[in-house]
Amino acid sequence: MTLMTRPPLNRRLAAFGTTIFAEMSALAARTGSINLGQGFPDTDGPEEIREAAVRALREGRGNQYPPGPGVPELRTAIADHQLRRYGMAFDPDTEVLVTAGATEAIAASLLALLEPGDEVIALEPYYDSYAACVAMAGGVRVPVTLRPHEGRYVLDLDELRAAVTDRTRLILLNTPHNPTGTVVTREELAAVAALAVERDLLVVTDEVYEHLVFDDATHVPIATLPGMRERTVTIGSAGKTFSFTGWKVGWITAPPELTAAVRSAKQFLTYVSSGPFQYAVAEALRLPDSYFEGLRADLSAKRDLLSDGLAEAGFEVFRPAGTYFVTTDIRPFGESDGFAFCRALPERCGVVAIPNAVFYDDREQGAPFVRFAFCKKESVLQEAVSRLKGL
Ligand SMILES: *Cc1c(COP(=O)(O)O)cnc(C)c1O
Repeated sequence: MTLMTRPPLNRRLAAFGTTIFAEMSALAARTGSINLGQGFPDTDGPEEIREAAVRALREGRGNQYPPGPGVPELRTAIADHQLRRYGMAFDPDTEVLVTAGATEAIAASLLALLEPGDEVIALEPYYDSYAACVAMAGGVRVPVTLRPHEGRYVLDLDELRAAVTDRTRLILLNTPHNPTGTVVTREELAAVAALAVERDLLVVTDEVYEHLVFDDATHVPIATLPGMRERTVTIGSAGKTFSFTGWKVGWITAPPELTAAVRSAKQFLTYVSSGPFQYAVAEALRLPDSYFEGLRADLSAKRDLLSDGLAEAGFEVFRPAGTYFVTTDIRPFGESDGFAFCRALPERCGVVAIPNAVFYDDREQGAPFVRFAFCKKESVLQEAVSRLKGL
C-alpha cells in the first residue's frame, strides 16, 4: 500500500489543524474550569420557541426534506424581520435562502462567488471559519487588521483602500464583530460601501450578532446604504439571537442573482437541514420587540459584570459595544503570549479563555489579546470573576 506516501489532508486545509475551541473546551472539562472560551449560552432560548419546535416535530412539519430554499413560513418571517427592523424589502421566494447556520451561509457564499485566485478582504482578527472557507474556495485572503485605539478596535479606512487590487472580488465584513466586540459605525460602513461601489466589489456581511448591541451603539446593515443592496449578501442566524446554537438555522438575504448563486453551492453542501426547527425559528423572528430588548438588557448587564471584573483583576479591557465577547490585553500582568496564558489559566485559577492570536494571519499581532465570553449565567460569571481576581 502506498496510501500514506501523501498526507491524507489536502494542502488547502492542512494549515488549519483542529479549532482552538475543541482544545480549550477539552481543557475546561479536564480541569473542571469555568469555560468562557467557546461562545455558546449556558441557558436555552425561550420556552415557547422550544415548544414550537416540538409541535412542528409532532405535527410532521419538517421531518422530511424541507424545500431547498427553506420553508416558506421561515423565508417570509426573515423577509418581514428585515423590513420591520431595517426597512429593507426582500422577496421571500427569490431573495431569501435558509442555510445550516451562518457557517454554511459563509461557506456557500464563498464557494459560489469566488474563482480560484480571487482575493477576499476580511477584517482581522476574523472568525475562524472565514480563512478555511476562503481556502476551500481557492481564494486568497487579504486581512485588514482592526487596531485598538482609545479603548475600541477601529477599522483603518486607508489600510482597507490600500488592500484592494484588481484581483479583489469581495469584502467579507463582520459587524457586530467577533472577537473584538466592535460595532462598525455608519460612517465606517459608508466608506466601505463607497469603496465597494467604486471598485465594483461584492460584500458578504456576517451579522449574526445584529441584535446584540449595547448602550447607544446601533447595528447598521451595510445593505441599507446607497448602491449596496444589489452587491451584498447579508448573513443572519437564529443561534445567537435566540440562544439555540445547536439548531443551526441561518439564512442569507440578497438580490435574486446572488441568492441563486449561493443556492447553487448550498444545494450540494447540506442540500437542506433543520426541518422542524425552521418552523420554530419563523415564530421566534416574530417575537415582540420586548424579547429583543430583554436579551440586550440581560447581556448588557453581563458585559458590565465581566468587563468590570476583568478590569479589577488587572486586565486591560476593551469594553465591547456588541456581541457576547470581551477582548482583553494581558500585558498589565507582564505577559504577552496569549497562548501560554490561556493554556496555563485553568491551572492558575480555573477559568478557560481563548487566545485571540488564533484569529490572526500574523499571530504576533494578536499575541497579547485574550477573549472571554459572557453569554453565561450571572452566578457563573460572578464565580469566574472571583477566581480571576486571584491572579
Ligand atoms: C457563531 C458565529 C457564526 C456561526 O453561526 P451558526 O449559525 O452557529 O453557524 C458565524 N459567524 C460569527 C461571527 C459567529 O460568531
